[in-house]
Amino acid sequence: MAATREIPVVWIQTATCSGCSVSVLNSASPKITDLLLSEVIPGRHINLRFQATVMAGSGEPVIEVLDAAAKGEPGTYVLVVEGSIPTKDGGIYGTLGEEPMVDRAIALAKNAMAVVGLGTCASFGGIFAAGPNPGGCISVGRLFEQEGIDTPLINIPGCPPHPDWFIGTIATVLVGGLEAVDVDELGRPTRFYGQLIHENCPRRAYFDEGKFAAHLSDEGCLYELGCKGTITHADCPLRRWNNGTNWVIGSGAPCNGCVEPEFPDLISPFYERLPEEALLVPRKES
Ligand code: SF4
Ligand code: SF4
Repeated sequence: MAATREIPVVWIQTATCSGCSVSVLNSASPKITDLLLSEVIPGRHINLRFQATVMAGSGEPVIEVLDAAAKGEPGTYVLVVEGSIPTKDGGIYGTLGEEPMVDRAIALAKNAMAVVGLGTCASFGGIFAAGPNPGGCISVGRLFEQEGIDTPLINIPGCPPHPDWFIGTIATVLVGGLEAVDVDELGRPTRFYGQLIHENCPRRAYFDEGKFAAHLSDEGCLYELGCKGTITHADCPLRRWNNGTNWVIGSGAPCNGCVEPEFPDLISPFYERLPEEALLVPRKES
């Protein structure tokens, strides 16, 4: 029988609320224990070397794991970055093991096989980079541009991201390598971010007929109440959340566009309607 191949994963949390970790830990199929302890793909096993929310260790011994990865053989591990990167004043607004997060992220990203930006903060700056952005937070992609880092980068945005978006992408990499993940111009896997919410929304017929809800939980399209599904690329209407139980529009509230680079500054106020010129799909006259 072929030996099981171990894929080391180093998962750092930078400027984050840790909600992305919480979302991924709630994965139902496969369960997170299957992902971390079993072979999620036959013959392939993830070896999670560092993850501050779930690991038992602390202090100097776990920081040594980061140092060993950054200084070890290049291209041997996948780096997951959860959160945006504080860069102002030398990065003193966020530290990891007494070193600025930005320095850790640069060293680990340069030496990694691939980097996954988990969540909208890592992918596009997100909440922590929202104005006035006192810590000078930037996305992982922006850090790569500034530092000339050319390690392959996949973005899994979402506030938080759906567990399937992360685990499905990791599983695809384990089976077929990085080249098996088809991404859009923003580095998002097209398998999960390839279509507009609006294309698959069960309320779409209301939009086309010009029937708009006046209050949350009313029947009708939620466009007038601030729905950003017309400009938001994700499969939430098909996949739904909490193990397929429901999703935001299914419960009567508008999509906030959390997977897009414009979130949150340019896509807010959340409960005000988008200007019509922002619509990618022309709205029928009512
Ligand atoms: S605007 Fe929002 S609620 Fe209306 S059809 Fe599009 S996605 Fe659905
Ligand atoms: S429905 Fe919209 S706000 Fe909700 S998770 Fe999906 S993309 Fe984000």
